Amino acid sequence: MEPDQKSTVVITGASSGVGLYAAKALAQRGWHVVMACRDLAKTEKVAQTVGMPQDSYSILHIDLASLESVRQFVQDFRASGKSLDALVCNAAIYMPLLKEPLRSPEGFELSVATNHLGHFLLCNLMLEDLKKSTAVEPRLVILGTVTHNPDELGGKIPPRPDLGDLRGFAEGFKEPISMIDGKKFEPVKAYKDSKVCNVLTMRELHRRYHESTGITFSSLYPGCVADTPLFRNHYPLFQKIFPWFQKNVTGGYVSQELAGERVAVVVADPEYKQSGAYWSWGNRQKKDGKSFVQKVSPQARDDEKAERMWDLSAKLVGLA
Ligand code: NAP
Repeated sequence: MEPDQKSTVVITGASSGVGLYAAKALAQRGWHVVMACRDLAKTEKVAQTVGMPQDSYSILHIDLASLESVRQFVQDFRASGKSLDALVCNAAIYMPLLKEPLRSPEGFELSVATNHLGHFLLCNLMLEDLKKSTAVEPRLVILGTVTHNPDELGGKIPPRPDLGDLRGFAEGFKEPISMIDGKKFEPVKAYKDSKVCNVLTMRELHRRYHESTGITFSSLYPGCVADTPLFRNHYPLFQKIFPWFQKNVTGGYVSQELAGERVAVVVADPEYKQSGAYWSWGNRQKKDGKSFVQKVSPQARDDEKAERMWDLSAKLVGLA
């Protein structure tokens, strides 16, 4: 592909783990990757470490916890003159040991602000850019996870996600509120709640915009990538045992390379053009494992909840 004919994908959180290897896999397929990251020097270093050719990527600053930074990112992207053919919402934080909530610059609980609200704003703003894409079918992909779904084996471990009546969002989601359901702060549940919001956002984007824009909206569970830095804020012993357990007991372990490859096929391959789909390769990873469209959790397929989540999120990020 000639450089100016390259399709362009923006990947958030491409400085580590699944996002980095998705960037590598898409660069290998001839895409230009805009690595949307908060640490530019780190991103440059890891892009070189995994062997991405210099002209296959550019790096643009975004701090997803900050709504102002998300808006600035969109301006900077537009100023680059690139067209947008795919957007991958991948960045996330998981801080299971926190006793008290951390806050985003706008005062929201930090994990929901980063994983959901920042991406929610980004998706809404970049819809305009995707609409202008000349690609046959532009795509917007949001990373999901099995832990959003208590109906799946990997999602049964408490605490379970529960958005409740979204009272916490309705009441402004700032001090003293730290959970979407307005209840007591539970950091693991906050992460899972944010991932339910990610799936609801994808489904609501599909319902609102697929038909009118032709954009494909989808999510995926790439498998348990137990050794990414996502677990850096967990007990050191957990960080040792978890990958071993997933490799030898559950059989759910997936390498960062394979997870990145899975993101890349959902972004680029014709078989993954179904909009509104949540792709999975199952919990037990077989060598010849095929992907399939998986049913999402009862909460994540609740249309009323999706609409309420959408309206309240739009208000919180200043879109309403
Ligand atoms: P990871 O290695 O920790 O990567 C997370 C990325 O998000 C990093 O690039 C990080 O940047 C970035 N990030 C965090 N906060 C940010 C912020 N405020 N602004 C911009 N970027 C920010 O995690 P991962 O395991 O690859 O997870 C990636 C995605 O896969 C997540 O959506 C996660 O839910 C999903 N997932 C993971 C697994 C798994 O088993 N690991 C399973 C299912 C789904 P820094 O490098 O600067 O920290």
